[in-house]
Amino acid sequence: MQAIPIAPLVATSWFGYRNVSIIRGDLLHPVVSGNKLYKLIPVFEQLEKGAGTTVMSVGGRYSNHLHALAFAAHAHGMPSVGLVQGYPEQPLTPTLRDCQRWGMTLHWLSKVDYQQRYEEEFWQQWQSEYPGSKAILEGGWSNESIAGGQQWWSGIASDTDIVITAVGSGTTLAGLALSAPAHVKIIGIPVFNDPDGYQGLKQKLAEVGVSENQYELWSGHTGKKFGSLNQEQEEFAEVFYQQNRIKLDPVYTTKVFHAVQSRLQQDKTLLSKKIAVLHTGGLQGNRK
Ligand SMILES: *Cc1c(COP(=O)(O)O)cnc(C)c1O
Repeated sequence: MQAIPIAPLVATSWFGYRNVSIIRGDLLHPVVSGNKLYKLIPVFEQLEKGAGTTVMSVGGRYSNHLHALAFAAHAHGMPSVGLVQGYPEQPLTPTLRDCQRWGMTLHWLSKVDYQQRYEEEFWQQWQSEYPGSKAILEGGWSNESIAGGQQWWSGIASDTDIVITAVGSGTTLAGLALSAPAHVKIIGIPVFNDPDGYQGLKQKLAEVGVSENQYELWSGHTGKKFGSLNQEQEEFAEVFYQQNRIKLDPVYTTKVFHAVQSRLQQDKTLLSKKIAVLHTGGLQGNRK
């Protein structure tokens, strides 16, 4: 039995762009929006086979990842622990209130402690607090979660030339690239700035077997910084909603759709391609 029923993936077309379809990950589930369920469901299958008795992960105060994790853990009757960058005196965000309601134990991390989240000692320490727990890296980066990204193909037409996704941890990009038909090009749009030209991301992708010719990154579309939009992006999201009646989130999807629009304006050869853009969801994070 599937503990979390998810809807079949559907595609709609983008107003004014006959060649571009929007793959509606935002409609997969009424509570947990987007790609996080695809990434977490395989992890819970492992957990049910005995990989751990508690799940633990890390994220920000509006984290889609912690939100989805808390929901999935609750649905599986499993305790969860959220390590949150923030301070106890800050009011709980709607995201964290949901997490708590679903039984997630929250711990606060200072900015400095949060920066340790890629270190082995960080996880060793938290695991000693919660013996038997499984640590899930930010964004869900793991072989199981990467494999979960294949599920996007169920909503993508077989004559598609280009598939475009947001890149946070790169898990979704890796899953798509590893399972793409040979004629499809995968494009990732990073939503965070990286002064090193995304070397770390490229290396991570290479380590799981994605070669450089399997994908392309469109950088330069982050706006101000991670999690915030510039004015042009904000106005874009408004017009996009008016024309399509589809909501976008400020962290990922506004940046992606805005980037795609600018690329289409700059490079007319793209108009002759059949393009699918993933709406990876994230709308819960819009609540203030
Ligand atoms: C996490 C997230 C992403 C990024 O996915 P990765 O697999 O981490 O690259 C994109 N969109 C939304 C809405 C997300 O929550």
